[in-house]
Amino acid sequence: MTKLCIKIDLDLCQGHGVCQAEAGEVFELQDTDAPYPQAVVIKENVGNDDREKVLKAEKFCPNAAITVTEE
Ligand code: SF4
Repeated sequence: MTKLCIKIDLDLCQGHGVCQAEAGEVFELQDTDAPYPQAVVIKENVGNDDREKVLKAEKFCPNAAITVTEE
């Protein structure tokens, strides 16, 4: 199984929370210096169970802040 590398561009993330709604096991909104919470990756090793959810989060993030690549 290939590993997914998940990156969030915090310059783009505006805390819409779509990622957390799609894959709450992987993304979590946390308070930052920005005026709104931003997403962080809370699960490093993403297996097949979460793969589809993570790809949906990438696809539906309104700010295109999530990049998912295979390692
Ligand atoms: S969906 Fe995109 S913009 Fe919204 S919190 Fe997640 S990464 Fe940030």
